[in-house]
Amino acid sequence: MAEPAIQPPRTWGHTVVHTACPLDCPDCCSLAVTIERGKVIKIDGSTVAPSTDGYICGKVRRFDRRIYSDERIQHPAIRKGPKGRGDFQRITWDEALDLVAQKMRDAAERYGAESVLPFYYGGSNGLLTNELEDARLFRRFGASRLARTVCAAPTTAAASAIYGKMAGVAYEDYELAKLIIVWGANPSATGIHLVPHIKRAQQAGAKLVVIDPRRTPLARQADLYLGVKPGTDLPVALSLIRAFFETGRADAAFLRDHTTGAADLQQLAAPWTFERAAAEAGLAVQDIVTLFNWYADTSPAVIRAGWGQERKRNGGAATMAMLALPALAGEFGVRGGGYTLSNSAAYGITQETLVNTPAPNTRTINMNRLGHALTEVNDPPITVLFTYNCNPLATMPDQNVVRRGLEREDLFTVAFEQVMTDTARYADLLLPATTFFEHYDIAKGYGAYHLQLVRPVIDAVGEARPNHEVFRDLGARLGLAEPDTDLLGESGALLETAARMPEAARAALLEGAPPPIPGHGRPIQFVDVFPKTSDQRAHLCPHDLVTTSSAYAYQADPASETYPLALISPASEKTISSTLSEFRPGIASVKIHPEDASRRAIADGDQVRIFNARGEVHCQAAVTPEVRPGVLSLPKGLWTRSTINGQTANALAPDTLSDMGAGACFNDARVQVTLLDRN
Ligand code: SF4
Repeated sequence: MAEPAIQPPRTWGHTVVHTACPLDCPDCCSLAVTIERGKVIKIDGSTVAPSTDGYICGKVRRFDRRIYSDERIQHPAIRKGPKGRGDFQRITWDEALDLVAQKMRDAAERYGAESVLPFYYGGSNGLLTNELEDARLFRRFGASRLARTVCAAPTTAAASAIYGKMAGVAYEDYELAKLIIVWGANPSATGIHLVPHIKRAQQAGAKLVVIDPRRTPLARQADLYLGVKPGTDLPVALSLIRAFFETGRADAAFLRDHTTGAADLQQLAAPWTFERAAAEAGLAVQDIVTLFNWYADTSPAVIRAGWGQERKRNGGAATMAMLALPALAGEFGVRGGGYTLSNSAAYGITQETLVNTPAPNTRTINMNRLGHALTEVNDPPITVLFTYNCNPLATMPDQNVVRRGLEREDLFTVAFEQVMTDTARYADLLLPATTFFEHYDIAKGYGAYHLQLVRPVIDAVGEARPNHEVFRDLGARLGLAEPDTDLLGESGALLETAARMPEAARAALLEGAPPPIPGHGRPIQFVDVFPKTSDQRAHLCPHDLVTTSSAYAYQADPASETYPLALISPASEKTISSTLSEFRPGIASVKIHPEDASRRAIADGDQVRIFNARGEVHCQAAVTPEVRPGVLSLPKGLWTRSTINGQTANALAPDTLSDMGAGACFNDARVQVTLLDRN
């Protein structure tokens, strides 16, 4: 296979280089990066990916702040002070990798290889730096496996169960919809390139409905806004399903020809009248009735299903019920009708094919229970924690227990990171990682349909190295793989990976061919794409779920008299994950409704204490009707520096798991809030 056509600059001068953004975001923007004297001086959107349309978000426009940050980890270093203080002493790469190999060998000898836990996520990484060479290494070693469930696990389980992760409606086709329902998503912050299409649809007369506990920017422009209580999307969706059957407006022909389980679904939805759902969700009955009538009467209608509804106990069932609606309404088979969730499975690329190394039958640790795993699991205990592509102290539930685990003196923690994160401060060993401006990667959009090559546009900063190089080198030191000097090179891992991809995907990646999506990148569901279930039908009540009685089962709100308020932690325009949260200025604000604030004599700008039995967060109050009564909202992805006492929303989040996919239940945090100086 030939080298990719466009090579990164290695000469000094002023040039514009095209690459792509792999950060955790549905859009997969194409980027034009201006380089001067070997440094990034400007980052802009390009039109290489048409949906980018020349503009990008503010986060990546200023990504150079991270590349050249004072907090950038530039060389391997070993801890020299107490854990958490962040004091390190420089060592060489050889010393560092020898040490990791020795610690892993020692752990395996004393406790077994499962006492080593790789801890990682892939949200801000493409196919090359996420579960590839790392997976090969840790599988061969026999380490504990990680269930990567912090995000998208319930929605993935739900979409897989019903449609086998069918490709969704393309952004462009939203302009043809006459009704758009944005449910559990805030595209103004996460997926900004969908917004202009929605606005153009509105200008052409389409109605917009937003369902979200927060009055998001799109909610403010919506024809109908349903400010549901967190965790009650399921009753609302079930009441719509019930109404389709009760009123005889369900598309009987579609249900007969393209689905299974409609009768079971009808039975399960039967108890959910509009009145009961409205009472549970804190909505006006008439608003749900209006939503039903609009949805039943309008075509094409599209649902943009997000991830907000999944971050709680009912997350999987809620998503299944939302996704069942287009089948009942007969909204498939027409351009601009159907749904969009994640399109990540649309490219015909499976990670298993790329990894090409069998997974051992070792134990699996759910990442949402990291604190528990570090402090309570003894069979065997985790003694080597290798973190990369993530910042678990900032991002995992039950933060104070995670911190206690990281403080263990008998735990050897590696942080393979770009900058000094909260987690890196607790590491025993730091390894410097390249950013996506310094290595090859493969980015695929999960909203916009793009498969793009991420190219290094500058030389690595300091001694930073890319993932594939480090894991391959470590594997060689452990005797698990022969070093292949070709593949250690700049593009070797890329070409090896591309060779394992289906031909159409490979051509899109290396030769700029269109992405391998049916319907010329604008698939019509049930015309160009069909469910990837065994019979190509939508399984409205997947058999295994129905027989275990867990399908569409509603679990009531966990609020109590002591902790009556729901704390949610949604993504914001500044952070979708914790990446780049280091640049949030000052102390974060918790949004609180005026009624809840007044009841507690809290004024805008006051310092407050949000607490429950797991921890407490000291921050500022922002009194605003943007959140509904009974709900507090603190941004997702905060680092500990963003609050007065170094705890974030995740200190209050339980490590319980969702109904499907064993996902995180961040938004099941129930809390109380008071003025800080009263305590
Ligand atoms: S984070 Fe999203 S909007 Fe921002 S540049 Fe990357 S893909 Fe585009």
